Amino acid sequence: MKLKIAIQKSGRLNEDSVKLLKDCGIDLKNGVNKLKTESDNFPMEIYFLRDDDIPQYVEDAVADIGIVGENVLLEKNKKADIVEQLGFGKCRLSVAVGRSEKYEGVQFLEGKKIATTYPLLVQRFLDINKINAEIHEISGSVEIAPGIGLADAIVDLVSSGSTLFMNGLKEVETVLQSQAVLIRNSQLGAGQQEILDKLLFRIRAVKKARNNKYILLNAPNDQLEEIIRLLPGMKSPTVLPLADPGWSSVHSVLNENEFWDIIEKLKSAGAQGILVVPIEKMII
Ligand code: ATP
Ligand code: ZN
Repeated sequence: MKLKIAIQKSGRLNEDSVKLLKDCGIDLKNGVNKLKTESDNFPMEIYFLRDDDIPQYVEDAVADIGIVGENVLLEKNKKADIVEQLGFGKCRLSVAVGRSEKYEGVQFLEGKKIATTYPLLVQRFLDINKINAEIHEISGSVEIAPGIGLADAIVDLVSSGSTLFMNGLKEVETVLQSQAVLIRNSQLGAGQQEILDKLLFRIRAVKKARNNKYILLNAPNDQLEEIIRLLPGMKSPTVLPLADPGWSSVHSVLNENEFWDIIEKLKSAGAQGILVVPIEKMII
């Protein structure tokens, strides 16, 4: 019994998807077959596909699970369950208009032409906002549409905004926030579900580890209490005596979000020789 997973063949999600499997300890065979491979050490078969096709394959159970952008999943409107957000491929689907346009709200779009590769999501956005507009579905290079007179506005994926900027556009509304998600066929068999649970356990450990850092520092003993108070740790920090009798070594785990804030406080509390180390896996 094997779990079949569909991932993007090439493009923005390919590398991170492969890396996630690798970080989960799943080795992929380096075969000549570019469409399909398997793992030596985990009951998994990997299909490499265009991202647009992944929701359909998962709905049809050709693949049991898949990794795809939430934006693609919602646009394709296929039946598949989201089981986990994966924290990469982050972007947003946004409305953009010419930089010199006076944009004062969604009403701007009334009666206008909008170019996009996401007709379904755009129509839904227009319906929610009670706007009538004409959607022009195009298959790529959406950002040039206003410049060549094809549309008054576009709806496209944005991460840094530099593509919009280079094309004389400005971002004015967010239609959807997106990231890569793990999806599952909604009638997965018990055997496949069991393998998926194993995979999920590993994915969660990898995600946790990516969001946390291991920190080691030296603390003067008279400041130890205050420094320990600043550290959350998994249970409580580890404290070891140093050869120098006035000092201790303190070890703990810090979350990425509070990291810089806490480091600063530790320094002002007298901590020295602060080392920050990546964590490979984290199980709590
Ligand atoms: P394919 O050949 O598989 O159809 P594609 O050209 O449709 O690939 P990519 O450009 O590789 O797709 O993007 C894949 C996914 O990466 C997007 O659907 C989206 O979820 C995510 N993504 C993250 N940032 C961006 C960005 N700035 N622009 C486009 N996609 C992004
Ligand atoms: Zn695509």
